[in-house]
Amino acid sequence: MAGTLSLTAHDVLIAVDVQNDFCPGGRLAVPGGDEIVPAINRLAEKFPHVVLTQDWHPPAHLSFASSHPGRKPFETIAAPYGPQELWPDHCVQNTPGAEFRRDLLAPRAELILRKGYRREIDSYSAFYENDHTTPTGLAGYLKERGLTRVFLAGLAFDFCVRFSAEDARRCGFAAVVIADACRGIDLDGSVAATRRRLAELGAAVIDADAIA
Ligand SMILES: [Zn+2]
Repeated sequence: MAGTLSLTAHDVLIAVDVQNDFCPGGRLAVPGGDEIVPAINRLAEKFPHVVLTQDWHPPAHLSFASSHPGRKPFETIAAPYGPQELWPDHCVQNTPGAEFRRDLLAPRAELILRKGYRREIDSYSAFYENDHTTPTGLAGYLKERGLTRVFLAGLAFDFCVRFSAEDARRCGFAAVVIADACRGIDLDGSVAATRRRLAELGAAVIDADAIA
């Protein structure tokens, strides 16, 4: 239903990891990752508050297959904190791949939250690192500012967007995923699993034109 959802001053758009390495031509390209940028730009104009997240890894990060001799990208290892997918090297600090897409326009973005900067732990979620206990500080930031409903868009639907939505719910925020402003990697059915999980958690999944 187009235009039925009205925004309030307590709503925040979180644009997740709209970075070169996650777009075609990048090191960990999400299919169609670049296609969502115009939609996110339009959304960012509508929202009273905008936060950007930025995957920001040191070299030889634990999530890189290249850090584990004999392992390949998209395999899973047992990290001390649980299962961890392995990826191609991506979003290395101060490299072009870690920069935001040049066509991402969010001049009013109030916070850029970096995550994944500890070598020994990955962080899919914008709220907690992958041990599910180390906070990034985002929940405290949003609460202190009185922002209570989180809208998520970006890359990738079935990893960083999914885990951010799960943790938003866990932290007591209302969570809405704007599905057509996301793209997924779809590793072993992860897109369908994400939709099921979001439904279980009471996170709404909408399209961008539902927002007035
Ligand atoms: Zn990463």
